[in-house]
Amino acid sequence: MILWEVEKILFKDGVKNQVYLETDSSGKIININFEKADKAYSEIKIIKGLVLPGFQNAHSHSFQYAMAGMSENLQEGHEDDDFWSWRNHMYQLALKVNPDQLESIAKMLYSEMLRLGYTQVAEFHYLHHDESGKAYSQKSELSERLMRAAQEVGIRLCLLPIFYQKGGFGVNPLEQQKRFITATTDDYFKFLEEIQNKAKSYDLCNVGCGVHSLRAAGQNEVREIIEQRSGPFHIHIAEQIKEVEECLSHWGKRPVQWLCDKTTLDENVFLVHATHLDQSEIKELAKTKAQIVVCPTTEGNLGDGIIPLVEFEKLGGAYSIGSDSHICLSPQEEIKLLDYAQRYRLRKRNPLIQKAGQDSAQYLLTKTWESGRKSCGQGADYDFFTVGQDFDAVIIDTEHPSLLGKKDQDLCASFIYAADTNAIKDTIVRGRKYSNLQRDQIKKDYKNSLNSLFK
Ligand SMILES: [Zn+2]
Repeated sequence: MILWEVEKILFKDGVKNQVYLETDSSGKIININFEKADKAYSEIKIIKGLVLPGFQNAHSHSFQYAMAGMSENLQEGHEDDDFWSWRNHMYQLALKVNPDQLESIAKMLYSEMLRLGYTQVAEFHYLHHDESGKAYSQKSELSERLMRAAQEVGIRLCLLPIFYQKGGFGVNPLEQQKRFITATTDDYFKFLEEIQNKAKSYDLCNVGCGVHSLRAAGQNEVREIIEQRSGPFHIHIAEQIKEVEECLSHWGKRPVQWLCDKTTLDENVFLVHATHLDQSEIKELAKTKAQIVVCPTTEGNLGDGIIPLVEFEKLGGAYSIGSDSHICLSPQEEIKLLDYAQRYRLRKRNPLIQKAGQDSAQYLLTKTWESGRKSCGQGADYDFFTVGQDFDAVIIDTEHPSLLGKKDQDLCASFIYAADTNAIKDTIVRGRKYSNLQRDQIKKDYKNSLNSLFK
């Protein structure tokens, strides 16, 4: 039994001082005390600073990390740069990543997520086939590479093998999408089963499911996968105006309206982006309890637009954050931008909280933690740290200038809104510290992969 002597720790009702957590050898919390017990421990670990729950990253495409920062210059003939021209750039990368390269990219990415405070990630994975578009001899080859990367680095992974069938509304798949395509839902469910079996060998990994977007599948297929889902179901939705207009002209409804009217949604359905919502969609969606994954830095980077999140929040809507294209890997930045986009839009301060005495940072940390956990198929109906749950946490330096001298109730907001990532001292998953991870080989392999991908 290990004792963690914690200087400050955040629970849902605020920061507590001098707390004693006992964990077993697997990193599970077996006791929480507010006085030191007279017991024999195999090890005593002292944590100086503030312990927060680990952040949840509800949307990731690992391979895209390799091109983060590489599409910020205007190309000749592409002066109207937008989401769709970025997508062509992304497809060029998707066409050439091999399994070793994918694994090395994922290891670098996941270790960076840990360093910056994420303890769990939902991987929206649609790169399934080899470079020629054929299935690998082990169909789950690339899925398994991602699970291996997560397991070795020590981050929790909810793998979401994604159904991708079409090139657009009423359009056959494009040549550039050949590595993503699954012809039928029968093929998809078999594939999913194979991955679920493989995941049993990786104790940090579990499996959900999803459809890439309405434009990437037929109506019957979307409905069937939502109905027969196991674990959390994720889908990209209404990220771009063009997609909303095409859905209206082909399917007769706006994307979120179609989902609300034609499928059965509940709290285990996760709508990624949902940027373009009208008032009736916001109301309908909130009634279903389906949750939204907002990816603020990617949505800003790709010029998607701003979700009317305050309106969804007022109806009790649940939402989490995701780093998506990985242009930014800091949960502090995602939460801050999620909030600031609403402030810019409405010209108000603290627009996502409603009651006097609430604190935007603690409120958003709690909301995104709860919804983020659910998006990865984990429970979230208890406190951040509870007996019986694994000890997953991020340790914040209260000696960082942005936190120094602040009262307990202001520490969380000082970390989210005022501090930079240097205020993060360490991240813990199942009692294992990120700082023990050796990254020399990870960095070397990653660099070699990028050198071969971008010769
Ligand atoms: Zn995405």
